[in-house]
Amino acid sequence: MGKRKIRTDFEVTQLRPGIYRINEFDVANCYLVVGEERALLIDTGTGIGNIGAVVRGITSLPVDVSATHGHPDHLGGKNWFSAYYVHPDDEQMSRKISLPLRAGLLLFQGSARKKYGVGLRDLTRGDHTAQPRRMEEAHRFDLGGRTVEVYHTPGHTRGSVVLKLIEDQIVFSGDDVNPFLFLFLPGSTTVREWIPGAERILALSEGCENYCGHGTDPIPPEQIRSQIRLAKELVSRGNHFPLPLRIAKCSDFKACILYRPAHVK
Ligand SMILES: [Zn+2]
Ligand SMILES: [Zn+2]
Repeated sequence: MGKRKIRTDFEVTQLRPGIYRINEFDVANCYLVVGEERALLIDTGTGIGNIGAVVRGITSLPVDVSATHGHPDHLGGKNWFSAYYVHPDDEQMSRKISLPLRAGLLLFQGSARKKYGVGLRDLTRGDHTAQPRRMEEAHRFDLGGRTVEVYHTPGHTRGSVVLKLIEDQIVFSGDDVNPFLFLFLPGSTTVREWIPGAERILALSEGCENYCGHGTDPIPPEQIRSQIRLAKELVSRGNHFPLPLRIAKCSDFKACILYRPAHVK
């Protein structure tokens, strides 16, 4: 870690009064929802710098931490807090997040390095050993005047969830309907198993803004629809591709699915 100052210069954007996107140096998006009594932090990033200090700079209310899923770019900063909520299907994954895993992930983040000068020395350990808490389907966070509901949508990982902020009609979808949808990772479901969760996210997103774990634009429903159509095509077509990884592009939308052809049905 050296003597380098711990970074807190995350880019914070107020999406609406009391709702913030905390951009972790273009690596991942975290979101902070502030109610009248409590606040909820959705994802903690990779653990570059001190996201705990950033959150405390925004609100002095007690903060709960929840994870859209157990990947190291979303829970790598968990140890700046004493506990985090995660779906039981991703709990194991979240416990295995290590410094080498986070460092390996950072090596692929060109924008963080070039635009923000982030280096491996900026990865921090935090000052807690955060304990997992179970967050299952229908879990509710009552923040006082704002309610966040949890929906289990396996796909990108088996324990992926979306969190819906009811009063403001905002859906936080993690990585489960990203324009570059990763279904090839070790903890991912098959393409077929992803479809029901994606259909659910589409229904939940009706009349809502949908913010995801990477990038800046809310995800339009047409994109999700297009990816679902593509996934159904892939399932009906079956596995006739000789390589272990394939990128299938949507014909009518700038989006794609990265998947393992042997892991479709
Ligand atoms: Zn992920
Ligand atoms: Zn991610």
